[in-house]
Amino acid sequence: MISKWILLIALIFLVFWLVKRFQRAAKQPPRSEQKVIEDMVRCAYCDVHLPKSESVAGHGQYFCSEAHRALHARAASKEK
Ligand SMILES: [Zn+2]
Repeated sequence: MISKWILLIALIFLVFWLVKRFQRAAKQPPRSEQKVIEDMVRCAYCDVHLPKSESVAGHGQYFCSEAHRALHARAASKEK
């Protein structure tokens, strides 16, 4: 008789654990986790830090936007 109750309680705990695990997985999609560990780069023009995927690469450096990449290129050509 007692073993039946233990089995039932264990089953209820197992169901609760599975539901909790499923809810946690649904709340935290792998995409957002990837963003957290993503490399951060610095804009060579305004020194702002941003994720590498959102940056604009050019001249071996990273920029926060296409406009800053163009401005940096213009400033570099003026220096020469
Ligand atoms: Zn910038």
